[in-house]
Amino acid sequence: MFKAVLNVVFPTSCLHCEEVLASPRERLCAHCLEQMTLVEPEGRCRRCFAEMDEGRCARCIERGSPFKRVVAAFEYDGPAASLMRALKFGKREELAKDLASWMVVQFLRLDLPLPDLIVPVPQSWVRRLARGYSQSLLIAKEVGALLERPVEELLRKRIGDFPQTGLSKKAREKLSSNAFQWKRGGQISDKSVLLVDDVMTTGATLRACARVLEEGFPSALYALTFCV
Ligand SMILES: [Zn+2]
Ligand SMILES: [Zn+2]
Repeated sequence: MFKAVLNVVFPTSCLHCEEVLASPRERLCAHCLEQMTLVEPEGRCRRCFAEMDEGRCARCIERGSPFKRVVAAFEYDGPAASLMRALKFGKREELAKDLASWMVVQFLRLDLPLPDLIVPVPQSWVRRLARGYSQSLLIAKEVGALLERPVEELLRKRIGDFPQTGLSKKAREKLSSNAFQWKRGGQISDKSVLLVDDVMTTGATLRACARVLEEGFPSALYALTFCV
């Protein structure tokens, strides 16, 4: 909280370590910028990006994955996590562009195919109202602008935001599995869709969104997040 307030009052301090920055356009100091290392795909499941030994993870072998590929730019740690928190909780909407730029670098570096359409993971209207914006939508729009692909809000979050911490993995999965629905008729049949979110934790949210999108018969589903 203190950090967030400080950053509003002194917008030219590093969002991670609060070191004074040379330019108000900078987000991180040189030292923190050096720590921004993109996640390597080695040691992660090629399908769902979960950490594992090699190839596909046990879950994807056992149950399959709705995604052709899932990719995240950074581990949820250090300066990357600070950037994400500043966008999410610090009312720093302009950071969506920064996050999206990193994500697109990772997207291109790991050679994902250009999608026909980009869809943000929706937030419940309660949370969106409280925050004043949906960070995943802001990020998706910036990713769309960079990749020159259309962005459509096809999904809506059906239930309120239950605090998920403290719930078992299974309970969380069940809760997410019916949390999303189509917002309005969108045409995605035979189109490749890139789902965009700020962070992926268990992957349950992405999978729940994918289950809804699959009803529209897309040709392929991909997902891109800032943190994992
Ligand atoms: Zn710093
Ligand atoms: Zn997997």
